[in-house]
Amino acid sequence: MQNSSVDTVLRQSREAFLSYRNRTGAQKAKFLEAIAAEIEGLGDPLIRTAMTETNLPEARLVGERGRTTNQLRQFAAMVAEGSWVEARIDTAIPDRTPLPKPDLRKMMVPLGPIVVFGASNFPFAYSTAGVDTASALAAGCTVVLKAHPAHPKTSELVAGAIAKAISKCGEHPFVFQHVQDSSFEAGKQLVQHPLTKGVGFTGSFSGGKALYDYAAARKEPIPVFAEMGSINPVFILPGALKARSEKVAELYAASITQGVGQFCTNPGLLLSMETPELKSFTQQLAGKIREVAPATMLHPGIAENFVKNRGKALKEKGVTLIAESATPAQTNQGIPTVASVQAENFLVNPALVEEVFGPYSLLVVARTREELFKALDAIPGQLTATIIGEEDELKEYADFIRLVSDRVGRVIINGVPTGVEVCPSMHHGGPFPATTDSRFTSVGIDAAKRWVRPVSYQNFPHDLLPPELQNQNPLGIWRLVNNSWTK
Ligand code: NAP
Repeated sequence: MQNSSVDTVLRQSREAFLSYRNRTGAQKAKFLEAIAAEIEGLGDPLIRTAMTETNLPEARLVGERGRTTNQLRQFAAMVAEGSWVEARIDTAIPDRTPLPKPDLRKMMVPLGPIVVFGASNFPFAYSTAGVDTASALAAGCTVVLKAHPAHPKTSELVAGAIAKAISKCGEHPFVFQHVQDSSFEAGKQLVQHPLTKGVGFTGSFSGGKALYDYAAARKEPIPVFAEMGSINPVFILPGALKARSEKVAELYAASITQGVGQFCTNPGLLLSMETPELKSFTQQLAGKIREVAPATMLHPGIAENFVKNRGKALKEKGVTLIAESATPAQTNQGIPTVASVQAENFLVNPALVEEVFGPYSLLVVARTREELFKALDAIPGQLTATIIGEEDELKEYADFIRLVSDRVGRVIINGVPTGVEVCPSMHHGGPFPATTDSRFTSVGIDAAKRWVRPVSYQNFPHDLLPPELQNQNPLGIWRLVNNSWTK
């Protein structure tokens, strides 16, 4: 992509923003609903195209398309209702002493053009009309989408659906623009263009961190919301292994290998204590892993990385292979693998907390409870952590669970981290290096908060105020007026 075309795209995006930012909640809701309907209207050819480009099975893609359209409709409902702008009104007290109080009103306003990088592992839900695009459009921002080169035709089809929705709803044609260019240089230019006001990304640590650094090096730094993956530690407490090791093994063999392990919530690290039950658990897990056949990964680059990173991880000091699939892997397939290491080796080797993206998990064996606590300290910020424990021991480990919560965005008790529910109370984020900003989520309606900033309007002529802040509350939204919640 030429420098000049990046400039044209961002100028067009800015031009569209000047009108789109004034669209009412009802107009944006109609637009987001229309995108969802147009995506559904693409029907089977969209699913077939994505199957060919990503090697993902039909059922998974049909489910992911449903998640994507549901996501768009959740944002539509949010903007139609309107309270999400967080309107606050503090009316003037001219005769207050010693100083009069001015009239002050505040609400969230959109940032401007947002550059979104489509993800390889979710061709719908985190790509062209995925959560970053949907949340930015809901917030009143315009979007420049850099398609992921692993599924260009899928991306093109979805971009076509958005274009149809734009035309049906009479939106500015450059509210959404689709860019296909598989060069890092194009991504850098998009992030560094002065008219870009924010960036959304899901992918590797190296990719997300590079984009974050490009943004920080700009004359005007801008926020980059990068979700960069996670190893999602699972702490398996001794009581649970005593009571139900086979069930836990079954649950985890399925979670580790689900979708060939290509989820940012894949459980890449299991931690437990050396007990007689751990031995049987290890054997049971090994047995289940051997039964799962290798499967084709998203694209050859991801498969190559998996082979390389798995090989490197297995060569680290003290790491031993517990089991791999009994079926040999073909080209571009990811082979289900579990390995183990003693906590004493884990504690001194930062390489063991690096993500091996694919069906791989490392079991860390602590000799004592203290060693388990220390292992927690060695794990950097994560999207999720899971505790598997019996009711009584969960109470006994309450302090430990609080420490676990300090370094993740979601804590799961007696479940698996894979499977991210799309609903308002989901937080999909976490302390660095899981993301570049732990305060925000990339799943659920709160994802729109990434693309807005607060503005206070002091002593404004009433007619110039946004409708959300006018006295008569024309939109009928919840507002904090003189410290009381009113509608
Ligand atoms: P990626 O390498 O992070 O790339 C994602 C997007 O970011 C692509 O559009 C890519 O540009 C762009 N990008 C990456 N590095 C860049 C840089 N230095 N400068 C400018 N743009 C850059 O992810 P991927 O291609 O999907 O997969 C590669 C590896 O990422 C996988 O093997 C896996 O380890 C990891 N991954 C992790 C997750 C997760 O959720 N944890 C998800 C997906 C991938 P181009 O279009 O020019 O290539």
